[in-house]
Amino acid sequence: MIESLPPSIRRRIHELAEQFLAELGASLAGLVEDAERAEQGSADALRRLHHRMHRLAGSSATFGFESLSAAARRAEELIEADLRGATFTEHTREAIRAVVEQGRNPGGVGGTPIDPAAIRSAVLIVGEVSGIDSSAARQLAAFGAALIMLDEMLEAEAFITKVLAGSDHADMSYESVLMVTSVTYLAESNARLQSLSRVRARFPIALSVMLVGRGDDFETRLRAVRFGASVFLPVPIEPAQIIDQVASSHSADGSAPLHVLVVDDDSQQAAETAYVLQQGGMITSVVTDPNTIFEAMVEVRPDLILMDMYMPGCTGSELAAIIRQNESFVGIPIVFLSVETDQRLQLEAIRRGGDDFLTKPIQPELLNTWVRSRAMRTRSMRFFMERDSLTGLLNHSNLKQRLETELQRARRIGTDLVFAMIDLDRFKTVNDTYGHLTGDRVLKSLARLLEERLRRSDLIGRYGGEEFGVILFNTSALNAARLLNEIRESFAMIAHRSSEGTFSVSFSCGVAEYPALETAAELSEAADAALYKAKIAGRNRVVVA
Ligand code: GH3
Ligand code: MG
Ligand code: MG
Repeated sequence: MIESLPPSIRRRIHELAEQFLAELGASLAGLVEDAERAEQGSADALRRLHHRMHRLAGSSATFGFESLSAAARRAEELIEADLRGATFTEHTREAIRAVVEQGRNPGGVGGTPIDPAAIRSAVLIVGEVSGIDSSAARQLAAFGAALIMLDEMLEAEAFITKVLAGSDHADMSYESVLMVTSVTYLAESNARLQSLSRVRARFPIALSVMLVGRGDDFETRLRAVRFGASVFLPVPIEPAQIIDQVASSHSADGSAPLHVLVVDDDSQQAAETAYVLQQGGMITSVVTDPNTIFEAMVEVRPDLILMDMYMPGCTGSELAAIIRQNESFVGIPIVFLSVETDQRLQLEAIRRGGDDFLTKPIQPELLNTWVRSRAMRTRSMRFFMERDSLTGLLNHSNLKQRLETELQRARRIGTDLVFAMIDLDRFKTVNDTYGHLTGDRVLKSLARLLEERLRRSDLIGRYGGEEFGVILFNTSALNAARLLNEIRESFAMIAHRSSEGTFSVSFSCGVAEYPALETAAELSEAADAALYKAKIAGRNRVVVA
């Protein structure tokens, strides 16, 4: 039906459909709330419920969610009867429950249910992008992104401003937007370029730009850079390439605001510096006692440390030297902010492990620009240093290191922690049958799924080959096993495509928990043993140590 409409209307419908999905969570919550009130005898709530149900029945039908629409229709009829009899019946309650159930799983790729609350970003296609059409919407939604297609850059600018500026209407906001457009499209008009550079300046972090173009030559790439692209891809592109980009911005290091640790014994000074950085959109933590710096480092994992030179008990350069002795903090830039103008002392500070020197007084804007670009550069460098190149997950040595620091943190706070190991089942056969490249894509799809389903604070690593490790903070083995089991089911339902045909893959998982097991070595041994048990018990299952 939709396919026979003109492209502009088709686009609009898809845009609205994605919006509908994104808002569904909130509508369901509203339904439940009104149902509770109606049950307690509120006639107003019952009328509101009727209205909501009527709208839901209509909109879900429009966007092709037939079973949701049918459930809502049935509930609507029952509520109508209730309104006439001024009661709230058991049947109505049942029908509403069915709507909520249906609404939680409106359908998705390969049967994977989409949680509307999981839609965190928007992929905005502006103009024609060869290889991408509206059929990519469902696939993107499964990975937490809404697809929006617009014909004009000005419309795109308005859209981005609306959804990123954090308006009061939380129903239409995203954490980040990935704009995909083509070099030729941009080059056609100056107005388009100006519009693009306005939104880029306004949202330097939350907006990223993917440019596509014909030809992979230097000229085209240079143009792409000048137009402000963070990625350039030769056409035609595949939805999977967009998903990769979306996922890397969703991962813990992506578009999250920069976190700066301000170290200054003078709390007034520290507060002032922190205030300036906050005005620049950064998150700050303050340390006024050098003795507590390590605690703060583990807790905060700052992107950058801004340090005073002179403090009682220990100088800034000494503190930098101490920080540099700890291997896990080597990658974090230390910048001195001081009135010191003696070049010899400045050099000494840098020799001891500082990265740069800023002299006070400094204009707020300059400080912000400077700190932001320095921290962003380090963040992307750190990303490549700490990450596995295929999946973008933490690599083996980093995951192990993080397990140690997370354990320290759990011990100090007095909370529990889970370490889980995942191994794909009969993966050698997948490679042998469908080829290594297809195998790689399966590995990536599991990485993406884990990123989408786990909390942002959870850590995911590629342990080796087809093995993954996951650290879940502040949760029990039982809860973690329940979650991993859901992920296992979703993963097993994904239909992987290859030229040899469509297939599915399962995984086995072993789960171990702190404080039952105390050290990192004990945890990973126990998780490994549980994983082995899962394998011999027949695979495709989660076993708790
Ligand atoms: P099991 O259910 O017992 O785990 O069986 P399996 O075949 O998964 O286990 P096995 O350890 O025998 O084989 C692991 C295979 O994983 C071997 C290798 O072909 C594949 N593999 C490891 N790393 C990669 C990778 O980076 N890419 C691809 N495509 N395959 C990989
Ligand atoms: Mg395996
Ligand atoms: Mg293995």
